[in-house]
Amino acid sequence: MADERALDEVVRFTSDLIRIDTTNRGGGDCRERPAAEYAAERLTEAGLEPLLLERTKGRTNVVARLAGTDPSADALLVHGHLDVVPAQAEDWSVHPFSGEVRDGVVWGRGAVDMKNMDAMILSVVRSWAREGVRPRRDLVIAFTADEEASAEDGSGFLADKHPGLFEGCTEGVSESGAFTFHDGAGRQIYPIAAGERGTGWLKLTARGRAGHGSKVNRSNAVTRLAAAVTRIGAHEWPLRLTPTVRAALTELAALYGVDGDLDDVDALLDKLGPAAALVESTVRNSANPTMLSAGYKVNVIPGEAVAFVDGRYLPGGEDEFRATMDELTGPDVQWEFHHREVALQAPLDSPTYARMRAAVEEFAPEGHVVPYCMSGGTDAKQFSRLGITGYGFTPLRLPEGFDYQAMFHGVDERVPVEALHFGVHVLDRFLRTA
Ligand SMILES: [Zn+2]
Repeated sequence: MADERALDEVVRFTSDLIRIDTTNRGGGDCRERPAAEYAAERLTEAGLEPLLLERTKGRTNVVARLAGTDPSADALLVHGHLDVVPAQAEDWSVHPFSGEVRDGVVWGRGAVDMKNMDAMILSVVRSWAREGVRPRRDLVIAFTADEEASAEDGSGFLADKHPGLFEGCTEGVSESGAFTFHDGAGRQIYPIAAGERGTGWLKLTARGRAGHGSKVNRSNAVTRLAAAVTRIGAHEWPLRLTPTVRAALTELAALYGVDGDLDDVDALLDKLGPAAALVESTVRNSANPTMLSAGYKVNVIPGEAVAFVDGRYLPGGEDEFRATMDELTGPDVQWEFHHREVALQAPLDSPTYARMRAAVEEFAPEGHVVPYCMSGGTDAKQFSRLGITGYGFTPLRLPEGFDYQAMFHGVDERVPVEALHFGVHVLDRFLRTA
């Protein structure tokens, strides 16, 4: 068990890290260095030898390795990002960079996304140093920059330029998983992430004949673009069940005592009530038009019109996604990837998944662990290029009524102290046995 001091430290570290403003506004506007130095100092005090790594000045990553007792075992990567999304202080009940602990809750940007996990990792490793604990597998600990933008200064840079630091790593754990999902009917579900949809941000370009707004024009770029955008927005994507989602649906159906007929998934989702939220965004690909741009004067038909679409595809779904986009855009509109990231699928029959599950069940015996697929993406996508299978595992026991999903990039982001303590115990147990 993690000691008392680890429980104190996890709160203090979460709070301290929140106070170090690492707002990532995109376009390179961020400075993680002070947070990276803070994390590196905490690791150094525990006898580790962390490296500070930068592609761009100030955009600092931290990597350290803790040698395991079994040199023949594969290494395990434990990672968390140091940057956060912006927060507007006037919208908040407490200042978003105060790290204030009020009534047993730590407040501030990064409290759940994901300075909490960074603090949990640091606390666990430091408690091991005090007790002389060594894990079985080598543990590679990475704190990354730039997760909230392109990852080019963070995990992407580490995977490209420093693959040797991850030598032997076959699996990784990081954000979004093993939190309490209350279904409103007394059930407590702990979803562990074993997959991520891929990212397909698209740029659509329609070209046509420019000309006077009063003349007949059958090749109007705006009309062509609007038609394509409408088709994309209205498209009903077919159901596609990946192994993770299939398992999630089957396990949830058993938990709810309902017919787990996967031939009628929409009916099954209805029967699951609020718990359907755990799977409904990951049973199909999706594509939402988000930006439009064309023209400069009301009586001038422009020769070009541009739109952007936020597309997401399931593991194994990219080919279908591309073919569908070809079809929906049609011959008059070109599309290209403005940004593309792979989809991930992690196995559920691995010893690592079983150990994550056992660690949660030990400290939350009332909970039901189910796998789930994330609808968006994390740094695990970049690390997958090194052959590292990613799971989402940031254990938090949350009280009923605490809207965890709303905390991500939301106003009044916060985390209960009790949730952090649970996280330290579960992470400690998992990492010791992993
Ligand atoms: Zn995050």
